[in-house]
Amino acid sequence: EKLGIALVGLGYYSTDLLAPALQMTQKCYLAGIVTGTPSKAEAWKTKYNIPDKNIYNYQNFDQIADNPDIDVVYVVLPPSMHREYVVRAAKAGKHVFCEKPMAPSVADCEAMIKACNSSKVKLAIGYRCQHDPNIQAIMKLAKEPKFGKVKMVTSAAGYFDARTDHWKQKKALGGGVMGDMGVYALQGARLATGEEPISVFAQASTTRPQIYKEVEETMMFMLDFPSGAKASCQTSFGINMNYLRVNYEKGWARLEPQSGYNGNKGSMSDGTLIEFAIKNQQAKQMDEDCDAILQGSDLLVPGEEGLRDIRVVEAIYKSAASGKVVKI
Ligand code: NAD
Repeated sequence: EKLGIALVGLGYYSTDLLAPALQMTQKCYLAGIVTGTPSKAEAWKTKYNIPDKNIYNYQNFDQIADNPDIDVVYVVLPPSMHREYVVRAAKAGKHVFCEKPMAPSVADCEAMIKACNSSKVKLAIGYRCQHDPNIQAIMKLAKEPKFGKVKMVTSAAGYFDARTDHWKQKKALGGGVMGDMGVYALQGARLATGEEPISVFAQASTTRPQIYKEVEETMMFMLDFPSGAKASCQTSFGINMNYLRVNYEKGWARLEPQSGYNGNKGSMSDGTLIEFAIKNQQAKQMDEDCDAILQGSDLLVPGEEGLRDIRVVEAIYKSAASGKVVKI
């Protein structure tokens, strides 16, 4: 049995990563699309053999409730639109996958979780890396401390974005590097410690003010964890960087990249290599999430996990704006 997935929003990530991955999945397939652009609907219909009855636009989207071909709605829109489409999908009685960052605010995330709970549908966040055994190897070191307690995490995620007019540069659409790449830096710190930060000190900056007028281009943030572990995190739309370094009492582990599409890899101070090969991250993520739905078991990355990040993201913005340490 395969679950039918409908992708909502046919931009870069749906086009270049998710649709190709859905040609490799075992537990699900690309059953439908939701798009506001008729020419995209035509192109996808031909390329992926999608029947007309499974093609929706943003106006008639709610009729998806009556379509038994669609089991899961995957929201791949700019972050400010996630809440609306997750809630509408839940009301239509469909399970929901939602891309990261879950939403611009904690209030949005809570409303999304509530809507899915009341409709008794599952909500998964598209943190593909948590399905990656290389990231899981780092997570394991927090739970089975081979090198002792975590002392210091250094976590970076960024790329040079040459675009000059995109939602990532617009506040109203949920732009800003913190939600986009910053959540990978934050995930690195949260997953490596296995803890939730208790306070944050952050600094936002921009080197291209003509492009990054409304949102930050770079965010640096320092986190304190209950065990005493600390993290120094960096994220930027102006710098290519992607790595995680974890210093423990008696050793270290590192990954570079830590959130790449084509294999995260690294090593540990005792010589252990972290080099698990996986065929396709997005296919693994969607298969595992669909398997959880089919089995009625817990999702690896439920809405609550997306919310945990956004709680910290809100505190980071508050700290950057006030110049003060913010308790979480
Ligand atoms: P994109 O700009 O390429 O695509 C966004 C899509 O939304 C487009 O098809 C656009 O037409 C549509 N859209 C509908 N209404 C819109 C509006 N009012 N303004 C702008 N666009 C509108 O963006 P993307 O890179 O595909 O990102 C989409 C989501 O996927 C984001 O949440 C992003 O963070 C996430 N993403 C995740 C990963 C990952 O590795 N998990 C990678 C890339 C993007």
